[in-house]
Amino acid sequence: MTLISGPMQDALNAQIGMEFSASLKYDAMAAYFEAEALPLLARHFFKQATEERAHAHRFLRYVLDAGGRVQIPAIPAPPHTYPTAAEAAQAALDSEVAVTKSIHAIMDLAITERDHATVAMLQWFVTEQVEEVSSADQLLRIIQRAGDKNMLLVEDYLADTAKDGN
Ligand code: MG
Repeated sequence: MTLISGPMQDALNAQIGMEFSASLKYDAMAAYFEAEALPLLARHFFKQATEERAHAHRFLRYVLDAGGRVQIPAIPAPPHTYPTAAEAAQAALDSEVAVTKSIHAIMDLAITERDHATVAMLQWFVTEQVEEVSSADQLLRIIQRAGDKNMLLVEDYLADTAKDGN
C-alpha cells in the first residue's frame, strides 16, 4: 500500500538528492574555509552539512513510511573552491533559495493532488527554509560588510553567536 502518487514519489526522490547535494556542498565549503584558516566558518558549514543530511533522511523516512520506493539520484560533485569567502556565502544562499523553490513546487503538487499527508510533512520544511534562507542571507551580508581582508571579524561574529547558543 502506498500513500503517494508516482509523480510525488519522483519529486520526493529528487528532493532527497537535492538535500544530499546541499550536504556535500556545505562539507566542501567547510573544507575550503578550513584550508583558508577560517575555522569557525568551517565549523559553521560542517554543521550545516550535518543538517542537510538530516533533511535528506527526513524525506527518505517519509517516502518509506508512505509505502513508496526510495531511489537516490546521482549527486553532482560540489565546487571545491571559491574566489572569495563572499562568493562561497553567495553560493550557500543561492542553494537555500533553490531548495526553498523546490520544496514549494512539491507543496504545489501535494495541494493539487489533495495529498494531505505530504502537505503536512512539507509544512515543517516550509518553515525550516524561512530560517535557512534568513541565516544564509545574514552570513553573506556580514561577510560582505567585513570585506575580504577582514574575515577575522566574521570569525569573531561566529564565536559570539556560538556563545549565545545559535
Ligand atoms: Mg535542507
